[in-house]
Amino acid sequence: MTIVIAGAGLSGLTLAAHLTRRPPRCEVLIVDDGGKDITAAGWGSWSDRPGLLDTAARHHWDRVHVHALGRSRLLDLGAYRYRYVRGADLAATVTPMLESAPGFRRVRGHVDDIVEAGVEAGVGTGGAARVVVDGEPTEARWVFDSVLGPSDPPPADAVLVFRGWHLETEAEVFDPRVPTLFDFRTPRSVGASFVYVLPFGGRHALVEHTTFAAPAVACVAADSDTQRAALAEYLDTVLRVGRYRVEREEAAALPLSAQPVRRRRGHVLAIGTAAGLLKPSTGYAYERIQRDSVAIADSLAEHGHPFAVAEPSRRHRLLDGALLDVITARPSELERAFARLFDRSSAEPVLRFLDERTSVREEAALFTALPAVEYARAAAGRWRRNR
Ligand SMILES: Cc1cc2nc3c(=O)[nH]c(=O)nc-3n(C[C@H](O)[C@H](O)[C@H](O)COP(=O)(O)OP(=O)(O)OC[C@H]3O[C@@H](n4cnc5c(N)ncnc54)[C@H](O)[C@@H]3O)c2cc1C
Repeated sequence: MTIVIAGAGLSGLTLAAHLTRRPPRCEVLIVDDGGKDITAAGWGSWSDRPGLLDTAARHHWDRVHVHALGRSRLLDLGAYRYRYVRGADLAATVTPMLESAPGFRRVRGHVDDIVEAGVEAGVGTGGAARVVVDGEPTEARWVFDSVLGPSDPPPADAVLVFRGWHLETEAEVFDPRVPTLFDFRTPRSVGASFVYVLPFGGRHALVEHTTFAAPAVACVAADSDTQRAALAEYLDTVLRVGRYRVEREEAAALPLSAQPVRRRRGHVLAIGTAAGLLKPSTGYAYERIQRDSVAIADSLAEHGHPFAVAEPSRRHRLLDGALLDVITARPSELERAFARLFDRSSAEPVLRFLDERTSVREEAALFTALPAVEYARAAAGRWRRNR
């Protein structure tokens, strides 16, 4: 019986690679309609542990700059490294793994529908779920869905709006040894805005203007002219890069939700952003997708089903939600919060917190720097609403 992975983007390819480690005794079909060009994608992330796809990372850094409240800091990352994986490199790493694994097949096709057993009469006779690709049904034992997602996704608490330029400068202006995780020296718009800089070489970088916005004002924050003007102003007046050429632009508006996603529908499991793996307080998903894929592959091999994966931590969701509530109500608070959280020589404790690996005691130590009453009020409000 077949396993279908719907979507061959970040989560589909990562899961497929992990399944080759402990191959299921059935065909694995990976379906993508080519709607998104993976070679144009790229993901930054931090990690403190080895992973199956580490060789896909082209750039690594062990220090970062932060600029907030008029202060610039250089922080080491402790046990962590920050890295950047280009979509083309991810695809080039995973493709040979799939080609040498018996039973793995990639096909071009549009997923029209995914129907779990019990929803439609007849499904469950040949398989436990049915995937309709270009009008043709395929019966599947398990379906991993990164394309349609649950029919009832939680409402967005905020939207992460960003526009980035992959650029080439005439002069050598970037220090390729140190990226800038956030720099608040950019006009505040309707949301909390900062710029993020990944230097790939002395003359090449990704410079991204990023805003955490309340859902009601996300379309204002996403105004492309305003974002481009902010990028140009940052390059001219803050980095003073001189002449440059934009090689490629990327932009998105990602809904952020601290509510859990109902990932499982019968024999269908949502993966990737459809599974709520975008961390609400950061907008990062890369490393969470790596860990989720390890857990799914291990669960299938050890239990014969893919569901022995960690549930999102309730405490961290509450804290993420409280942060989003505070910064969407008062955008200036993001800069203040980040300035205080990163007012240390190493970013490691904050990254451990964002990885949801801190204890309550460690979190209390981190949060002493924040206006406790405001966050406590936001967290209490969320807790009451979620009960
Ligand atoms: C521009 C951008 C930059 C980002 N940068 C970062 C970052 O630096 N770090 C980070 O951690 N996260 C980042 N993210 C967030 C997140 O990691 C990415 O969105 C990531 O690609 C999500 O993986 P996914 O598998 O869920 O979706 P995708 O990677 O988008 O994969 C979905 C795939 O499904 C295919 N598809 C869609 N619909 C259908 C259909 N009906 N039938 C068949 N195929 C279909 C698409 O062609 C695509 O290949 C970024 C997101 C965006 C949009």
